[in-house]
Amino acid sequence: MKIYKIATIPGDGIGKEVIPAGRQLLEALQASSSGFGLSFENFGWGGDWYREHGVMMPADGLDALRHKDAILFGSAGDPQIPDHITLWGLRLKICQGFDQYANVRPTRILTGIDAPLKRCAPADLDWVIVRENSEGEYSGIGGRVHQGHPIEVATDVSMMTRVGVERIMRFAFKLAASRPRRHLTVITKSNAQRHAMVMWDEIAVQIAREFPEVTWDKELVDAATARMVNRPATLDTLVATNLHADVLSDLAAALAGSLGIAPTGNIDPERRYPSMFEPIHGSAFDIMGLGLANPVGTFWSVVMMLEHLGESAAAQRVMQAIEHVTANQALHTRDLGGNATTAEVTAAVCAELLP
Ligand code: ATP
Repeated sequence: MKIYKIATIPGDGIGKEVIPAGRQLLEALQASSSGFGLSFENFGWGGDWYREHGVMMPADGLDALRHKDAILFGSAGDPQIPDHITLWGLRLKICQGFDQYANVRPTRILTGIDAPLKRCAPADLDWVIVRENSEGEYSGIGGRVHQGHPIEVATDVSMMTRVGVERIMRFAFKLAASRPRRHLTVITKSNAQRHAMVMWDEIAVQIAREFPEVTWDKELVDAATARMVNRPATLDTLVATNLHADVLSDLAAALAGSLGIAPTGNIDPERRYPSMFEPIHGSAFDIMGLGLANPVGTFWSVVMMLEHLGESAAAQRVMQAIEHVTANQALHTRDLGGNATTAEVTAAVCAELLP
């Protein structure tokens, strides 16, 4: 029997609540004779680790993860530590260290969820946003000089490489080809950003030729926000730069009902390294420790992880279990307008998996 080695990294805030819930779900799946085994190793990296060791994760942390089959990640963010340290010191270190260049963010209005777009039927909103996850606006190139003086200068350079753009475009076209509508929208801003984004557009045209079965269009990122709200059914798969997709996917999550539901996968499509799955929400310190965190974003991330591992039947079972639970308003957490706790939602989804 295949045993998958799973690393869990709860990180900070509600990550410490939703990741144990995700593990509980995977253990319930395993107990219900899924046909495969799971072995877990937990890593207590994040804000507390930083306070003790001065770093968010150990220098040889990537080596401890390298031979895992997948990583389930919670969140990184701590009110006492600057955000750029928590982000670059843990999550981005793993994403970049393992060249997880495709960040995949599915969005759907799950059964029973009351989403804010009143003129939109639930079926109208079924998107996957592909975010370039290794370069662009978040490539980390830049600096500050003359700090505190009137002549201070600070730069963040957005860097795009032909290799980087070609591989994310190819990934996005391939993903679009695998979905029923076979449609890709390439998000751009080449009217204002007249160098790298123009190359981005040119490469889209070039890669499109490899996928004649996919219809595609181009949309400026600002216009895309309005289209997501006004004409959601015209979108299916989207591909965007690191920054653009970061913003669009938070909007997508809100339009689908709550940030607490949305999942994401940081994928190494070449499978040289483990891929990492996480809810898109942050550490949400306002509700930390109260048992109010919605675990559904983590559960859906578990579904993505199972799909990535090639366990499609198990992934489908878990997704059905999640939607049976979201269909029941009595099992909605506070972010969805309900009173249910993390533990109650977790127990209900696990119970759905019983044979
Ligand atoms: P970070 O700085 O780590 O990104 P944040 O608190 O700024 O964290 P989020 O964690 O993404 O941002 O949360 C924004 C708000 O959404 C939170 O204040 C919280 O109330 C709500 N929220 C986010 N995730 C969940 C969840 N899983 N369950 C319930 N509410 C959530």
